[in-house]
Amino acid sequence: PDRNPIQTDLLPPPGGSARVRVMLTLPFAGPLDYTLPPRLAGAMPGDIVTVPLGRRTETGVIWDATSRLPPEFTPPPQKDVPTSRLKPVAARLDLPPLPAQLRRFVDWVAAYTLSPPGMVLAMALRANALAPLPRPATGWIAAPTVPSGLRLTPARQKVLELATTALPTAELARRAGVGAAVIRGLAQAGALTAVEILPPPPFALPDPAHCPPQLEGEQAEVAAQLRARVDENGFSITLLEGVTGSGKTEIYMEAIAACVAAGRQALVLLPEIALSAQWTGRFARRFGAEPALWHSDLGARLRRVTWRAVADGTARVVVGARSALFLPFDQLGLIIVDEEHETAFKQEDGVTYHARDMAVVRARMSQAPIVLVSATPSLESLANVGAGRYRHLKLNARHGNASMPDVETLDMRADPPERGLFLSPMLTGAINDAIGRGEQAMLFLNRRGYAPLTLCRTCGHRMQCPNCTAWLVEHRARHILTCHHCGYDEPIPQTCPKCADADSLTPIGPGVERITEEARATFPDARILVMASDTLNGPAATAAAVERIARREIDLVIGTQIVAKGWHFPHLTLVGIVDADLGLGGGDLRASERTVQLLHQVAGRAGRAEAPGRVLLQSYVPDHPVMQALVSGDFASFMQQEAEQRRPGFWPPYGRLAAVIVSAEAPDAADLTARALGQNAPRLDGVQVLGPAPAPLAILRGRHRFRLLLRARRNIAVQPIMREWLSRVKPERGARIDVDIDPVSF
Ligand code: ADP
Ligand code: ZN
Repeated sequence: PDRNPIQTDLLPPPGGSARVRVMLTLPFAGPLDYTLPPRLAGAMPGDIVTVPLGRRTETGVIWDATSRLPPEFTPPPQKDVPTSRLKPVAARLDLPPLPAQLRRFVDWVAAYTLSPPGMVLAMALRANALAPLPRPATGWIAAPTVPSGLRLTPARQKVLELATTALPTAELARRAGVGAAVIRGLAQAGALTAVEILPPPPFALPDPAHCPPQLEGEQAEVAAQLRARVDENGFSITLLEGVTGSGKTEIYMEAIAACVAAGRQALVLLPEIALSAQWTGRFARRFGAEPALWHSDLGARLRRVTWRAVADGTARVVVGARSALFLPFDQLGLIIVDEEHETAFKQEDGVTYHARDMAVVRARMSQAPIVLVSATPSLESLANVGAGRYRHLKLNARHGNASMPDVETLDMRADPPERGLFLSPMLTGAINDAIGRGEQAMLFLNRRGYAPLTLCRTCGHRMQCPNCTAWLVEHRARHILTCHHCGYDEPIPQTCPKCADADSLTPIGPGVERITEEARATFPDARILVMASDTLNGPAATAAAVERIARREIDLVIGTQIVAKGWHFPHLTLVGIVDADLGLGGGDLRASERTVQLLHQVAGRAGRAEAPGRVLLQSYVPDHPVMQALVSGDFASFMQQEAEQRRPGFWPPYGRLAAVIVSAEAPDAADLTARALGQNAPRLDGVQVLGPAPAPLAILRGRHRFRLLLRARRNIAVQPIMREWLSRVKPERGARIDVDIDPVSF
């Protein structure tokens, strides 16, 4: 009764070939039609195949005849093209098929983000994950009986004695102290039998009982709740909120333990892959085995092995960046999104998607529980809790004897730094005290480089990027000015390019490099370590830096947002925020929320063990609600206020938002296209289009950019409206229209 039409479609008609639709990893509107030659007759949806396309051979996946893509992504089967004119599928690759659930997920993400499905599929089929694995080596094992007539020389005797476990030729010869010819002779005579030596499974099974923590009180209760969600083995969404150091990681590992014990797979998404080294170590201590790692820097071999191990279920726990969502899980039983509030989960180029939101979709498709974890949950997640869509679990106290750090603002108007410096006397005094007591201190500034602006004191000229509306940032150690948006750089000029005055160019404002210079002068005896994404080269270097801090080889850590992550620094007692006001400018409605989340995260590095922590915020607006929230630690009230500001205008999460970015090298092409979009804006109840206006970066990589925002009531699906709207506007020559559903800044 429930016969799958897909499969009947695929049955080759007698004497002919079946038509199949193949999704290629290319920005096409949808799958293309091919025929299935008789030798591939058993091929099924999900099979990974190669097909001819023009003169090239492309890799793709046999897609379901009935996939529910939006209309423009579902070209009618090319009915008018007779089957005889279609090209045949070239080959089926020796790979596990893409599971139906993952195919549906690809369809869903494409439809939601208005992206070509082939580009979403490309994230699931990373080319180097598909390369064939090396053939298994051949080993030799002694035949049960020595063939009659074989002359047993001492050398042969030795080989046969050793060949009780399969060994490859060279190894066997070496151990027996004979030449390879002896082995070949024995094989020819039938005294040795060839067997394939299979590599050991790449990922050992994590042991849920290896080293469980002692849980009491609220920790035990919350862990029990999470385990119950895993055990009921159905879709549920839980927000796990708990102050930094309350044991959130410890506790969600208990959910992972339950998932592994039930024989299912768990996926843990981290916002930043730099965190994975510390996480992996912690996981290994808890479970006695390493998890599988997945991120864009993974080597080709590991990528191949991991992709297959996820598909065949031998990788039980995967920790990774957002792209891990597109792995071919066989038995997904739990998803954890750690630091769920992080905007790093939003992918901004290619397919723009929010990994946290798509993880919820993936969990629903897998009928698996998902747990969103944060000390400072996003307003989205809190609103979902408020509306009863998410469960809410809370941890209120730090684990053990650790108390929450004491947060104070330093009013920079009252206690200004000396001229040309950036650290106030109060802050430097506190750092001196902490270091003097043998404790560690940290300075945080969310800005790389030496100075964000270079100004000519004579003519006022500002050094600007030639490709972007952005200032060039001085990186003194590298002797360059560089654009943080497009990567353009040039040597630091000796004279002003405008007025040609020598020695008039002056760095304005601090970056971490400049703060480091100041700190070295102020604390000449302190052992200082700088942690910035451009000074730390990859996860291993980050792990090494964290290790040095833990071993107390460092007195003062100076860092950008990378230090804000979930690190556990037991000896760190003082955190100084160099510029707490930094994130507040720019007119973004989400600026306050994000600043609170970031600064609270940084503050949370202080006092995680016995010694109490102290956090000092340098600010020119100490009365700002953001500073007040950080000082009082009352985020619930702060978020309540945020909610009240966004609710009336139906701003997210109380309404839906989509951004349309028009860009072109020629300003006119961008402008005309943007205006055409404005003129054709949908006129519907509950929908409003704002703009066009110059985009926040009005010129980026040499392209002029305009932005329109479509805002809709929550109960309105914006995708069909967007599709209809965009279909009515033809971009000017050279102009491009990009859509960003649920933009993270507005
Ligand atoms: P969070 O993720 O909320 O910041 P963690 O899970 O990292 O908190 O816990 C903070 C520190 O306290 C870690 O070193 C962790 O190992 C330790 N910890 C938390 N709960 C326990 C527990 N029940 N038993 C032992 N150590 C714990
Ligand atoms: Zn630039």
